This record gives sequence, structure tokens and C-alpha cells, in this order.
Amino acid sequence: MQPNRKKRVALDVDGTLADVMPMWVKVYNEEYNKNLDYQNISQWAFWISLGITTREFFRIFSKAWSRWEEIQPTETNITQTIKTLNRLCVVDIVTGRTKDTLKFVKNWLRKHQIQYQNFIAVSSWQHKIYLPYDLYIDDSPDLAQLAAHKQKMVLLYNRPWNTMVMEGPWIKRINNLKEAIKTIVCD
Ligand SMILES: [Mg+2]
Repeated sequence: MQPNRKKRVALDVDGTLADVMPMWVKVYNEEYNKNLDYQNISQWAFWISLGITTREFFRIFSKAWSRWEEIQPTETNITQTIKTLNRLCVVDIVTGRTKDTLKFVKNWLRKHQIQYQNFIAVSSWQHKIYLPYDLYIDDSPDLAQLAAHKQKMVLLYNRPWNTMVMEGPWIKRINNLKEAIKTIVCD
């Protein structure tokens, strides 16, 4: 990287900025008449153990996002934290998702005044890694492992579904987004 060039950061939405899983669980419980507890989700592909297909997972995911006004941020003061991140880096929202949820996500980002340069939607998380970013802030264990393999830096947002990923030269864990800023400043 050239000296003085601002780092380009790919900032994830689901599970990193927006705490969408409680809403996913709410929709699932309503539709299936179940009592799944959000706290019990400790695996990335948890829907397999529920006996539902990936397609069904995404159908519920879309329905959860249609209730975007009820989806909470992952942490308090997120507006200010992301504003600070934008002063330090070039921040793009980079999100893997189905097209039908794009308008809901954009509404959510607007509501929570999340500042960013570009909004990049990819059809699948794997595509993120081929985009020209210096740093990824994400909660996906699969992305973290692929990034490490490709020697790209990931700040892995600590969530119950990514605990199995080990830290290493290309993966650093963060408990919150303020820690991401500290890491970038000290780098
Ligand atoms: Mg995510």
C-alpha cells in the first residue's frame, strides 16, 4: 500500500452493523410455531440443524429484512463510531444478499445514519474477497478463513457463530466496532 493512502474498508451489514438474527428467529418462530432462542445460535449454517433448506433460510431472511424498522444495531453509538471510521478510511458497505432486501437495508442504513462511500451488493459472500479492499470488517467465519488464505486482513466481529475461527496474521478478533478503529489507528 502507498504511504498516506487511506485504507479501503469493506464493512459488512448482517451480524456486523445490523443485528438481524433476532428478527430472523422471530419470523421463524412465528411461521413454524417454534420457540427457538436466538442465544442458542452458535453455528454459521445453523438452519441445517433446524431441518430447513438454504433457500428457506433466505426466504425467512428476506421477510426478516422487510421488518427493517424493528432490526436493532449490533451496538450503541454506531452512527458516531462509523463516522469516525470514515475519517480514517474509505468505507464501503459490502454486503452479500438477495436483491429483494436491498431497499430495506438501504433504509436501515439511512435510519441509523451509517456513513459510507459506496454501497456494494454481491450475490455471494465469496465475491467480497476479490474486490479491491485492504481490510474487511465482517462476522463471517467463512470469509475470515478465505481472506486469511488470500492474505487479506479481516477484523472478525465476535459472534457466537464464528468462535471456531482462530486469530492469526490475517485475522484479528474485535468485540465491537470501536476496537476496529483502535486497531486501524495503531496499525
Ligand atoms: Mg455478516
